[in-house]
Amino acid sequence: MIHEILLAYEGEMTLKGLNRGKFEACLAKTIRARLRGLGDFGFTQAQSTVFITPQSEGFDLDEAERRLSRIFGLVRLSRAAVCAKDFAAICAAAEEYLDPELRRVKTFKVEARRADKKFPMQSPEICRELGAHLLRCHPHLRVDVHAPQLEVMVEIREGGAYLHGPKREGAGGLPVGTSGRALNLLSGGIDSPVAAYMMARRGLALHHIHFASPPYTSPRARQKVEELAALVSEYTGDCTLFVVPYTAPQEYLRDHAPGDIFTVLMRRSMLRIAAAVAKRCGLDALVTGESLAQVASQTLAALQCTDTAQALPVLRPCIGMDKNEIIAVARRIGTFDTSIQPYEDCCTIFTPAHPKTRPRLAGILDAEAAMPELPALEAAAAEGAEKVPVRMGDAPLP
Ligand code: ATP
Ligand code: MG
Repeated sequence: MIHEILLAYEGEMTLKGLNRGKFEACLAKTIRARLRGLGDFGFTQAQSTVFITPQSEGFDLDEAERRLSRIFGLVRLSRAAVCAKDFAAICAAAEEYLDPELRRVKTFKVEARRADKKFPMQSPEICRELGAHLLRCHPHLRVDVHAPQLEVMVEIREGGAYLHGPKREGAGGLPVGTSGRALNLLSGGIDSPVAAYMMARRGLALHHIHFASPPYTSPRARQKVEELAALVSEYTGDCTLFVVPYTAPQEYLRDHAPGDIFTVLMRRSMLRIAAAVAKRCGLDALVTGESLAQVASQTLAALQCTDTAQALPVLRPCIGMDKNEIIAVARRIGTFDTSIQPYEDCCTIFTPAHPKTRPRLAGILDAEAAMPELPALEAAAAEGAEKVPVRMGDAPLP
């Protein structure tokens, strides 16, 4: 019976010098939180590697690996079989554990690392002898030390001998929370879940805000947004979705704003409300899925007008991506199929046929001055935002 553990390798955070401890502590907290519910496990961090050792019967290692593959800060994952620090036991374990891999490939090499110097064989000898053993068992194999199809890795550690299985890519980036906290403007579209993923990958802890305008937008549109938030929570962890009752400010804008700058005025209004909610929760930036020139409200002039509406930095990770690139990420992270469900967003109602692509700030400010009731409506909307808890695992799996 093979005793299997999970290994996860830290990425960029290992370059963080004196701050490294802070990054590692944050990563450890995230891993513990995301593996919750799977059973008891031992957790150790050593030499840029995290060791997860199942301790309860029925611990689901596949699910643990799937969850780890979505944790930012980890660049690679692999499993390992743990056996006694005895050469015969190591050979037998290698044979059993790596059998499917060894059958699949034609060339291999053995790498050995001996952290426990009390082990009687030195690394080159382990490589040579284990290599010879595997060649005897699998005569079709050849050793290729330069470009092997399979690298058999043995580590002799304090707690036992570890035989590594094949590696897979981790999520990369930095542990969520190490770069601060922000509020993501989540529509039901393709871009904003991708924006959330990208900023979380740079270490931002995120909550979401969504503007709903019932009865113009339906309960189903809102449910879709809740689903998207749950899907993204596989990466961000548990968070809160603020749902803003936006009908009153939006109707007021419809009735009072000049048609050709309506959208920019609405974007400014949304950002002001988002900033108020962010401040209330101690969040330091806003995130949107805007992409340069995708629509009239995302031209340089329009973005400039939007930016001056409030003081928090607006992060737009999709700004230089074209739609196909954004879609590729959406597919990879599993949000695409939900995003393309056809439910209306409040950004698509009351929109004029011919929006200005080069709005001028002076004109925008004049229009706002002529809408004296807007600030109170926005304040009420921010105040009335409903807090919807988003729990990891609420989402149907991609
Ligand atoms: P997406 O694909 O994410 O919907 P989009 O291409 O539809 O983006 P817009 O509708 O112009 O673009 O919206 C630009 C950005 O504004 C979105 O990416 C999102 O961050 C934010 N946004 C738009 N509508 C809403 C909404 N109803 N609630 C919250 N944020 C929104
Ligand atoms: Mg949209």
